[in-house]
Amino acid sequence: MNYISTRGNFEAVSSARAIKLGMVPTGGLFVPEFLPVLSMNDLANMVNCSYQEVAEKVLGLYLTDYSAEEIRECIDRAYNGQNFDTPEIAPLFQLNNHTYFLELWHGPTAAFKDMALQIMPPLLSKAVKKVQSDKEIVILVATSGDTGKAALEGYKNVPGIRIIVFYPYGGVSKVQELQMTTTDGNNTYVVAVKGNFDDCQNAVKEIFGDPDYNHFLNEHGIELSSANSINWGRLVPQIIYYIWSYLSLVRQGQINMGDKINIVVPTGNFGNILAGYYAYRMGLPVNKFICASNENKVLTDFFRTGEYDRNREFIKTNSPSMDILISSNLERFLFEVNGHNSELINKWFRELNATGVFNIDAETRARIDAILAAGFATEEETLATIREVFEKKHYTVDTHTAVALKVYWDYVKSTKDHTPTVIASTANPFKFNAAVLEAIKGPEAIAGKDEMAILQELREVSGMEIHPGLRDLDKKPVRHNRVAAKEELVQEINNILGV
Ligand SMILES: *Cc1c(COP(=O)(O)O)cnc(C)c1O
Repeated sequence: MNYISTRGNFEAVSSARAIKLGMVPTGGLFVPEFLPVLSMNDLANMVNCSYQEVAEKVLGLYLTDYSAEEIRECIDRAYNGQNFDTPEIAPLFQLNNHTYFLELWHGPTAAFKDMALQIMPPLLSKAVKKVQSDKEIVILVATSGDTGKAALEGYKNVPGIRIIVFYPYGGVSKVQELQMTTTDGNNTYVVAVKGNFDDCQNAVKEIFGDPDYNHFLNEHGIELSSANSINWGRLVPQIIYYIWSYLSLVRQGQINMGDKINIVVPTGNFGNILAGYYAYRMGLPVNKFICASNENKVLTDFFRTGEYDRNREFIKTNSPSMDILISSNLERFLFEVNGHNSELINKWFRELNATGVFNIDAETRARIDAILAAGFATEEETLATIREVFEKKHYTVDTHTAVALKVYWDYVKSTKDHTPTVIASTANPFKFNAAVLEAIKGPEAIAGKDEMAILQELREVSGMEIHPGLRDLDKKPVRHNRVAAKEELVQEINNILGV
C-alpha cells in the first residue's frame, strides 16, 4: 500500500518512506491511497485475539512494505509487560449500562500518546534501514505536554536518532514539565518556547517545509522527521485500540458482533479521533463520533457552522493537551470525507494560512454531520464532571477525559441516543493532579501545596496508586533547561546539532 499527499503535490511513497519523512516535504500530509477493509467475518475471527494479535492484523494491512516478522518485532518491543501495567494494554472500564471508558494511559508516561510512541521508534528504525538512508535522523516534536515525554521515552538512546522537543513555556502542567526536563538518554533535548503550542507546532511545520534549511542539514548528514500526529506512523497504531475496544465489548457480551457503537474523543490536534474514523472506514460499526473540545472550541464551532476560524484568543485551560487552535489532522479528515479531493484541500488550507479562516461547502457539511457530532466543556463543567463521577462511581478521571464525558452527557441529553459508547480516556488522573484534586476536594485542598504533596493527597483520596512514571519526579535531577523565543528555534536547533 502506498501513501499519497492530501494536497496532490508529491509522488506516492511506501509506508517506510512516509514514516521517515513525517510530513510531505512540499506541504500536506500523507494518507493511505485506499483503505483496507475488515469484514464482519474478519472482526468475528478476532474477538478472542490479544491486543498484540489485533495490532499485528491492523498494522499488517497498512505497513505492507514491512515483513510480518518485522511488525511482530516492533509489537513485542512496544506492547509488553514492562512498558504497560496491564496485559490488556488498553482495558475498558464500565461506567454504566451503555458507557465505557477505554483507558489508554497504562503505558510508561501515563497518557495515550504512549500507545503510538512506544511502537513508532522501532518502526522508524526499520524504515531508515529499508530506505537505505545513511543520514542521522533528528526528530523534531512540538508538544502541548504529553507527546513530548512519550516521544522522549520512546526515542531515548535509539541509535542513529536524536530527538528535540519544544513545549510552550508555562503552558504545561508541573508534572508534564518535570517529566520532560528530567529525561535521561544520550540523544534527548528539551526546549521551552516562549509562546503557545500553536507557535511551537507552526515553527516546526515551517522548518519541515523549508527546502533550503533541509538541504543545509542534509549536507551535514542530517535528516529531519516528526513524532507528532502529522506523521502517519503516529496514527496507524491508534487505529488498533478502537478495533480492540469493539472486540472487547463483544467478548464481554456487552454488544453483539455487528452492533454499532458511539466513540467519544477529547480532541486537540484531531489525531486520536481521526484514527477512530479510519477504523470506521475500514468497517468498524460506528454510529457517531463525538468530538469533544475544551474552551478552545474551534472544532466545535467548525462542526456546528462550517466555518473554521482560528482568529480567536488562545485560552490556557486545565486540559492543556487540548489547548490547540490549529488541528492539523482535520486536513486528513476533510480529504477522506470528500473522496480524496486535493483541490478543495489546497483551496481551504491556503485560505486558512492567509486569513486564519475557511468555510466548507454544504455537501461536505452534510457528509460530516452524518457521522460526527461536536461539543465543548467549560473549565467549571470539567471540574464538576470529575467530582460527579468520583462521588457517584468512585472512579477518578483526568481533566481531558472529563471534557469528553461532559460533552457526551450533553449529547445524550439532546439526542436521547443510548447507543453503547466508548469514551477515550486519554490520561491518568495523576498527570493533572492539581485540577483533579481541586475538583474532588475544593480549591482549599491544593492552595499553597506543591505538586508532589498534591500527588500524595490524590493517592489517598482516590485510592489509586501513583502511576510509576510520575513517582519521585521531584527527586530526579533536571537535565534540560533550555528556553528560546519562538523566532529562534532554528538557531536553537543549530546549536544543539552543532551545525
Ligand atoms: C494529546 C492529548 C489529547 C488530544 O489528542 P489529539 O490527537 O491531539 O486530538 C487529549 N488528551 C490528552 C491527555 C492528550 O495528551
